[in-house]
Amino acid sequence: MSHVLVVGSGIVGLAVAARLAARGDQVTVLDKEDGLALHQTGRNSGVVHSGLYYPPGSLKATMAAAGTRSLTAYARERGVPVEICGKLVVATSERELPGLEKLADRAVANGVPARRLTPAEAREYEPHVRAVGALRVESTGIVDYPGVCRALAADVEAAGGSVVLGEEVLAARTVPDRPGARGRVEVRTDKADREVDALVVCAGLHADRIARACGLEPEARIVPFRGEYFELTPEAGEQVRGLIYPVPDPRFPFLGVHLTRGIEGHVHAGPNAVLALAREGYTWRDVSPGDMADALGWPGLWRLAARNLVPGAAEVGRSLSTHAFARSLSRLVPGITAGDLVPAPAGVRAQALRRDGGLVDDFLVQTTARQVHVLNAPSPAATASLEIARHIVEQLDATLPLEHAA
Ligand SMILES: Cc1cc2nc3c(=O)[nH]c(=O)nc-3n(C[C@H](O)[C@H](O)[C@H](O)COP(=O)(O)OP(=O)(O)OC[C@H]3O[C@@H](n4cnc5c(N)ncnc54)[C@H](O)[C@@H]3O)c2cc1C
Repeated sequence: MSHVLVVGSGIVGLAVAARLAARGDQVTVLDKEDGLALHQTGRNSGVVHSGLYYPPGSLKATMAAAGTRSLTAYARERGVPVEICGKLVVATSERELPGLEKLADRAVANGVPARRLTPAEAREYEPHVRAVGALRVESTGIVDYPGVCRALAADVEAAGGSVVLGEEVLAARTVPDRPGARGRVEVRTDKADREVDALVVCAGLHADRIARACGLEPEARIVPFRGEYFELTPEAGEQVRGLIYPVPDPRFPFLGVHLTRGIEGHVHAGPNAVLALAREGYTWRDVSPGDMADALGWPGLWRLAARNLVPGAAEVGRSLSTHAFARSLSRLVPGITAGDLVPAPAGVRAQALRRDGGLVDDFLVQTTARQVHVLNAPSPAATASLEIARHIVEQLDATLPLEHAA
C-alpha cells in the first residue's frame, strides 16, 4: 500500500483517487478551491462524447469510446443523472458536405455508431434545424459531471481516503530510493509540508506550472481558451430537442458553437473559443498580468496566433457581440435570434501548446520518479476520465516498481 497525494478535485483527479483508493492505497486529494470541480469539470458542456472526431488510434479516440461506456455505467450505478440521447451533426451548406463525409468515415474508423441522414430525416430528429445533410450519432449523451465528481469523492472517502479542500500545492520534490531507504515525495502547500510515497497532479489550467515546480520540464505550456455560453429562453429552447453540432472548421481545434439540451433540461448555446486574459479568466474583466506574461512569453502562442488570425478574429467578434453569436447559432436553427440568448457562466479550457505553435492534440501525461503529471486533458477528458485514470495508475505503478513488486 502506498500513500498517494492527488492534486486536483476535477473529474480526472477524483477518478484517479477513486481508483487508487479502491485497490487499497491510502489517498489524499488536495484542491486549492473550497468546493469540488469548480474549474473545467464544473463549467463544461456536460456532454458524454462518443469519440467521433479524434484521429483513429489516438488516446482521445479509444478512451472516449470506452469512456462513454464506463462513465455511463458508473453514473447509472451511483444514481447520477445521465442519458444517452444521441446527437446530430449538421452541414448547413454544400461547402460543408465533404467535411461531413470525412466525419462519417472517421466514425467508421473509430467504431462509433453513426448514420448519414438526408435533410428530411434530420428534421425528424430536430424539426427546426437547417441542414443540407446530417450525421446521426447514437452513442453521445449528457450527464451531470459535478454529480459524478461528488460520487467519486464519496467513493474515495468510503475507502478510507480524504478529500481536502482549500489547500494549494506550491511545489514538490522526489527524494530518490537509496539502498535501505525507500524514496518519497516531499510536498509543500500553502498550509503544510507533507510527505507521501507518490504524487499525481491533475491540475488542469495550472498543470505545466506545477510540473515545473515539481522538477519536470514540460514540453508544452497551458494556454487558456475561454468558452462562453448562453442559455436559450424557455420559448426559444422549444426549437431544440437534443444536441445539434456544426461540422467543425478543420482550421480550428474546437468543435464550434453548438446547441445542447443539458441533463437539467435547459438548452445551452456555445462555447466559442477566445484566448483568456487569465488562466481562470471567466470574463474579459479577469486579467492576470502574470498569466498574460507567461502566455505571451511562449513562442508557441505567437506562432498559433499567426496561423489562426481569421478564425481567431471571428471568435473574438462572437465574444463581443451577442448578435454575432446568435448568427452562428441561426446557421443551425434559423429561428434563433439575439433576443433568445441569456448569458450563462463561461468555462476555460486548459490546452497545451508546443513551442512550435502546434496544439498538443492528444492527452499527455509525463512521469518522473514517484510522480505523474497530467499535462493535457482537454475535451473529451471528462467523458474519458475513468479510462484516463486507469492509464495514469499504470504509469504511476511504473514509477513505483519496488513497492508494487513486493
Ligand atoms: C467550455 C468547456 C466545455 C467542455 N465540454 C466538455 C464536454 O462536454 N465533454 C467532455 O468530455 N469534456 C468537456 N470539456 C473538457 C473537460 O471539462 C475537461 O477535459 C476535464 O474537466 C478536465 O478535468 P481535470 O480534472 O483535468 O481539470 P479541472 O476540472 O480543471 O480540475 C483541476 C483542479 O485542479 C485544482 N488545482 C489547480 N492547481 C492547484 C494547486 N496548485 N493546488 C491544488 N489544487 C489545484 C483546480 O482548483 C481544479 O479543481 C470541456 C471543457 C471546457 C472548458
